[in-house]
Amino acid sequence: MVDLVNLGIGIAAHKRIGAIRSDMRSQKRNLDESELTAISMRQDIEKLYLLVEALWAIVKTSTNLTDEDLSELVRQIDEQDGRQDGRNSSNAQVLKCDNCGKTLLRGQTRCAYCGSELREDGLFRHNGK
Ligand SMILES: [Zn+2]
Repeated sequence: MVDLVNLGIGIAAHKRIGAIRSDMRSQKRNLDESELTAISMRQDIEKLYLLVEALWAIVKTSTNLTDEDLSELVRQIDEQDGRQDGRNSSNAQVLKCDNCGKTLLRGQTRCAYCGSELREDGLFRHNGK
């Protein structure tokens, strides 16, 4: 009888260990995907830095603007949301349909809920407001 109980406990423990191993593999996969996403985002940011630097070099050589002018403009844009905190939080606002008010993904031309045509605010989300 004791052997049967021990066998039952052994089988239950074996199943539990299998479930834990499966969970660990799944969590490792999720972690790997997060790491890849982080690496991809870092690469995107580094590419954006290069592009901004190249664009600024073009602007500087073709205008009379200085680094101080650029810094002042960055400061003005930073303050458009009422705070000087190194970012313009109006760029992080959620896009809502003007017609039905549902939250939308950027880049759509029509609302997925009501079909209303979406107006383009301009190159940047804050549109200089
Ligand atoms: Zn809508």
